[in-house]
Amino acid sequence: MSEHEQGLRLFGKTIPLYLQILAALVLAVGLGVLLGAGNPSPQNAELAKDLAIPCSLVLKALRALATPLILLAVLHSFLTTDIPGRSGRRLALILLGNTTVAILIGLFVANVLRPGTWEKISFAGDAQGMTKQFDPWGLVESSVPEAVLKPLTDNNVIQLIVVALSFGIVLRALKSEQVAAGRSDYRPIEQFITIMFEAVIRILTWVIMLVPIAVFGIVASTVTLKGFAPFKALAAFIIAVLLALFLQGCYYLLRVRLGSWVKPRLFLAGASDALTTAFSTASSTATMPITFRGLIDKVGLRESSASLGALVGSNFNNDGTALYEAMSALFIAQILGLNLNLEQQLIVVLTSIFASVGAAGIPEAGLVTMTLVFTAVGLPTQYIALLITVDWFLDRCRTCINVMGDMTVSCLLDGKEPKLAMEPALEEAFVSEVD
Ligand code: ASP
Repeated sequence: MSEHEQGLRLFGKTIPLYLQILAALVLAVGLGVLLGAGNPSPQNAELAKDLAIPCSLVLKALRALATPLILLAVLHSFLTTDIPGRSGRRLALILLGNTTVAILIGLFVANVLRPGTWEKISFAGDAQGMTKQFDPWGLVESSVPEAVLKPLTDNNVIQLIVVALSFGIVLRALKSEQVAAGRSDYRPIEQFITIMFEAVIRILTWVIMLVPIAVFGIVASTVTLKGFAPFKALAAFIIAVLLALFLQGCYYLLRVRLGSWVKPRLFLAGASDALTTAFSTASSTATMPITFRGLIDKVGLRESSASLGALVGSNFNNDGTALYEAMSALFIAQILGLNLNLEQQLIVVLTSIFASVGAAGIPEAGLVTMTLVFTAVGLPTQYIALLITVDWFLDRCRTCINVMGDMTVSCLLDGKEPKLAMEPALEEAFVSEVD
């Protein structure tokens, strides 16, 4: 079990988190059926409401951790990763392009399949008039916070990223100037940010350990009060997300084929270890060394492109997360009977881009930053509780796409010319060997 996978020790054996969640799901369904499955007595209905309390506590903790996590993740990335000037701009453009495509694919699939409407659920009416209207100038105007620390308390993702990027860029520049002058005054602040980042991640780990209890409570409560309809909608959501992630994977292969010398087959052969690790750890950061080695040893990229794509990418590049956050917002809006118009979906695009930049490459980070996307479009965050039940699985799938995205960026940075021009026959042999 990797250090990123939390486990519970029982009878001398460690039970991984996903098994705990699965067990919680099964037990909760049993309890929900016992309590009435959609038709509870008044007493059981009261009890069901109490059962939802652990989940709302977990959500509150996730909301509270979201802003420090994003701020520290961005500052930490700027301070600790080396991006050479010219490649930096190219990298930023590639990252932005890929993330935008991911979100558009997510929104397209969610709009076409409309998974939130597959099953009629009586949540509608809970949230009438809750979403915000799109106001482009208001958005620009409000992107600058009234006070530097205000976005931290307001949970405003756009303002937060503006603050984080400003400080990140400045700290990076100061560090470079000091390094060039042989000074090291920047070290204490770098150490402070690193240790605070690790501290937030550790607290997040504690919260994640409570997820099985939260899942048990919310599933038992939902089955008791609403029966199984919400889970049919969730099944539709899973299908839609998997389809969108698959399309994003195809987009990467096409992008690699057209924008680099790497053939899709070679790319997939080089990605096999990284993808299995990504799926089993649900962490693109934990997968990073394997991604890097795959790019160097199996694909045969130059070290500079492999490190820039894999190391920087795994900090900033989370296309799977962006796609998922946008789809989740649309799905919950559909469940609530709210129609997000094109302009509101544009806010979803913008905030999902920002939220994915700030999402750390650790398990469930997307769930944390999602609270900020929901807040930005005015969707009630308590409905994220529904998604917690399936997030353990979808997290693994979107992490694979995050890693595939990092590999794509590396290939594109490597350009159209291979490191050493391989004879086609030699390349064939190479591919079958890594296969
Ligand atoms: N687990 C994902 C990753 O490590 C982040 C997320 O939760 O979306 O890339």
